[in-house]
Amino acid sequence: MDYQFLEEAISKKHEKFVEIANEIWGYAELAYKEHNSSELQQAFLKKEGFEVEEGIAGIETAFLAKFGSGKPVIGYLGEFDALPELSQKANEKVHSPLEEGAPGHGCGHHLLGTGLMQAAVAVKDYLEEEKLSGTVIYFGCPAEEGGAGKAFMVREGVFDQCDACLAWHPGDVTVSSVSTLSNARVFFNFKGISAHAAVAPHLGRSALDSVELMNVGVNYLREHMIPEARVHYAVTDTGGNAPNVVQAKAQVLYSIRAPRFDQLTELIERVSNIAKGAALMCGTEVEIQIVSNYADVLQNKTLDGLIYSHVKEIFPLDYTEEELNYAKDFYEVGEKAGIEMYKNLARQFMGEAGSQLFLGPMAKGYFPPSPMKMGSTDVGDVSWNVPSAWISVQTFALGTPIHTWQAVAQGKSQIAYKGMQAAARILARTAVDIYNNPQLLEKIDEDFQTALGGRKYQSLIPADTKPGMIK
Ligand SMILES: [Zn+2]
Repeated sequence: MDYQFLEEAISKKHEKFVEIANEIWGYAELAYKEHNSSELQQAFLKKEGFEVEEGIAGIETAFLAKFGSGKPVIGYLGEFDALPELSQKANEKVHSPLEEGAPGHGCGHHLLGTGLMQAAVAVKDYLEEEKLSGTVIYFGCPAEEGGAGKAFMVREGVFDQCDACLAWHPGDVTVSSVSTLSNARVFFNFKGISAHAAVAPHLGRSALDSVELMNVGVNYLREHMIPEARVHYAVTDTGGNAPNVVQAKAQVLYSIRAPRFDQLTELIERVSNIAKGAALMCGTEVEIQIVSNYADVLQNKTLDGLIYSHVKEIFPLDYTEEELNYAKDFYEVGEKAGIEMYKNLARQFMGEAGSQLFLGPMAKGYFPPSPMKMGSTDVGDVSWNVPSAWISVQTFALGTPIHTWQAVAQGKSQIAYKGMQAAARILARTAVDIYNNPQLLEKIDEDFQTALGGRKYQSLIPADTKPGMIK
């Protein structure tokens, strides 16, 4: 297949997308409040000839932009939300907030959404040029960071019209398809009896003791859970700051992750039993509230294969001396353990020579589709309903963890925009493969059924929870 037209379409408009990403980086809007970012993207896509539906799934900042008609229908899952308290000056190599306490794009979602717009616009140009049957839809998906935006959009059937959905994530390494852990957030609210801690401690029943005992219990549980699972907690209410009062209320928020939904529900039950045990020991009561749930990403063999063929064509990217020098400073302060992990993984896939590709500020190596579990994302919820693929593309110096000021600092750099464009190139080519060979959809659907293995999508988010209630 000849991708010359796509290449030209992407590079011709590249500067415009850099401007858009720069602007969104500057807005740095938090989950469900991405008004400027969403409007900017909508306005641009309208100008490009897309038909825009705003406020979809009852979420003000969610939208879709559609072009073309008939099948195949390919969706791009764009995001644009920032993270709290990650404000950082662009390109600064030390921690230096632009505005103390303000949000920042520590997860690169300004690149994520804009890169997928770049792919969608190139695909639109291609469909027009070739007069092919097919529809491309860019989805503006709010609140990926903790807000489970796509889970609510799935609930409203927003993605059901798609034959396949494509997505990527910025990072410090390129992987041609990754999976994620399914994840739930659960509040444990303990209720006890208040008393004077010196005069009548025997009359009190401490909610804070219950939180402490629960956490100790869970820390003992760690040895006896599957090694891929993750459990973290934050004490969100200590019951007050007076030590001479027996705390009558206390709250702890747990984030529980496991590779599969069934493993997740089992682990939630075990953690909940520990909470009940802690309440029993202290004579308190516990109320358990699941507030968020992200499904794991189901991978699709055919989509992953198409993507990998394009990663091989496009990577490694060429970096100028200047870009490598820029990345070097961030690489030097980078997370060495993370780099070791990539090297070990490369050894598994490609032998010792492969591990040598993960030296230096911008890795020359990239990974084939991998069952590697990278964090959690609400792309998972889409992937249980529509065949999907999710990839990681290098936009930051090797060793740069996301959700850090280092990632925010590199967000407006040439290396970031080169990665964004590479993601657009890979995912535009993948879509074009399908428009030209619609029979691929059969294979894609077969893989989807195999990955589901008879299981059905379930979400633990209570039916009465509305978008925006999850923080
Ligand atoms: Zn992210």
